[in-house]
Amino acid sequence: MPELPEVETVMRGLRARLEGRVIARVRLGRPDLRWPFPPGLGQMLTGARVTGFRRRAKYILMRLDRGESVLLHLGMSGRMLIAPDDEGVPVLHEHLSLHTDDGWRVGFVDPRRFGSVDLVATDAEDSHRLLAGLGPEPLDDMFDAAVLSEMLRGKRTPIKAALLDQRNVAGLGNIYVCEALFRARVSPQRGADSVAGARAARLVPAIKMVLTEAIAAGGSSLRDYVQPGGELGYFQHAWQVYGREGELCATCPGPPRCVGIHRIVQSARSTFYCPRLQR
Ligand SMILES: [Zn+2]
Repeated sequence: MPELPEVETVMRGLRARLEGRVIARVRLGRPDLRWPFPPGLGQMLTGARVTGFRRRAKYILMRLDRGESVLLHLGMSGRMLIAPDDEGVPVLHEHLSLHTDDGWRVGFVDPRRFGSVDLVATDAEDSHRLLAGLGPEPLDDMFDAAVLSEMLRGKRTPIKAALLDQRNVAGLGNIYVCEALFRARVSPQRGADSVAGARAARLVPAIKMVLTEAIAAGGSSLRDYVQPGGELGYFQHAWQVYGREGELCATCPGPPRCVGIHRIVQSARSTFYCPRLQR
């Protein structure tokens, strides 16, 4: 599933190709993805100029000159493709295609159809039902140790679960939570309300750093965020703990040596961590 940095990278790729362009033609390959496409979607898009983009959590907002924004979510398996318009037919599972006035096709490809597309008034984006309850953006300047501590106060759930709860912090997924807790040397099993003071002060920059580094990796390895096959974004990265059960972590001071990265299951998701380093 695309995580926040991948979504940010996809958004930047869409911006590079679509901002300022007019959508000359729209093709809807079916009436729905996870939910039905909003009524009038094709009409709203056809002839509209794209004025800008914004990411909120794992949602992409594409703003039109008609006062409406298109709200996109990639779901489990959604991808955005960019191709010159003369390359003909849509690819398999390309359910929505936008054809620009400068000769490009942008396609939303989603085999499993957990993705979604909706329309929302641009001046009311944050009151859309999918965005209204979200916590702060982890990369916003206002997200700091004080905000995090306040958010966690009185919460008895493990810090891992609290960080995955989108009402506390928006857009954090399983992999980046594992990585951030490792960098901050905070145990994923620690009670959320005990993450304050020095631990909160380490955790916030660790969260920002793992996200920022991943976004930067996407930006530097891809031209305009487009992969050779025309797919936007990127979905590979080297993790320090995620998926590394049994390996020695790179941070433990020795001797004695690292006891090895453990995998446990929390809220039905795998957690990877170093029990010696993370307290
Ligand atoms: Zn270790």
